[in-house]
Amino acid sequence: MLMDSHCHLDAEAFDHDRDAVVLRARQAGVNAMLVPAYSCEHFERLESVCCRYNRADFVVWPAWGIHPCYVNQHKEEALRQLETWVFRPDCVAVGEIGLDRYLPELREPEVWRKQQYFLRYQLDLANRAGKPVVIHVRHSYAELMSALRHCPVAAGGIVHAYNGPEDVAWALIDAGFLLGLGGVLTQDSAHRLADLVARLPLSAMVLETDAPDMLPQSLWRQGLRRHEPAWIVEVQAKVAALRGISLDAVALATSANALRCLNQRGSFI
Ligand SMILES: [Zn+2]
Repeated sequence: MLMDSHCHLDAEAFDHDRDAVVLRARQAGVNAMLVPAYSCEHFERLESVCCRYNRADFVVWPAWGIHPCYVNQHKEEALRQLETWVFRPDCVAVGEIGLDRYLPELREPEVWRKQQYFLRYQLDLANRAGKPVVIHVRHSYAELMSALRHCPVAAGGIVHAYNGPEDVAWALIDAGFLLGLGGVLTQDSAHRLADLVARLPLSAMVLETDAPDMLPQSLWRQGLRRHEPAWIVEVQAKVAALRGISLDAVALATSANALRCLNQRGSFI
């Protein structure tokens, strides 16, 4: 009944025990995952991981796109290569795509211009393919909103690991986006985000892990360093506590939101 709307199941961190990771996810109640791409180099690997674990009662959907932190490793031709993947029927979304100004090298003028060019190209590509987008945004919320005003995405999408201000959250919801909630929400210091999660409509929220990254605080304190989809229950519990609703209510609503956004039916929910 849980959907991990953002998980890098294809990451090398899972190469030695991916079967066990998927088994633990299933035991925790996860029965759907969206696995977004980040670099052209790994597109085929992503496809084979999704095919390997996709079942009638455990769905693993791929999304293909070029991540803003990897844009500088790609040439323009990569965008043409991406098109063939995006138009495939098994591609449920374009992602992850977006803008990131966190590290100094990402803020260099040429890299920043390239990030914006790749984002706009991929937003347009999503519209041409009639697919939603999965967005990564860090320290660039105003610039993201400006790109979305220039190129609104008809099918909407998910802004993963949302941690922006309230006015941007509402603008995104109005533009047809869902907000992805993950490990950050479990941190004691995430007051502003917790306050938003208590007040924004549940119909705008999806759960995610971003595994192997973004470990929930309690697991980090236990000394763990690799996140995995089974631990999405930490985020589920936090949302339930903040809103005063049951775990099942959180699971049902967020899974249904994700399926609606991705245009998928979920007889398995
Ligand atoms: Zn990611």
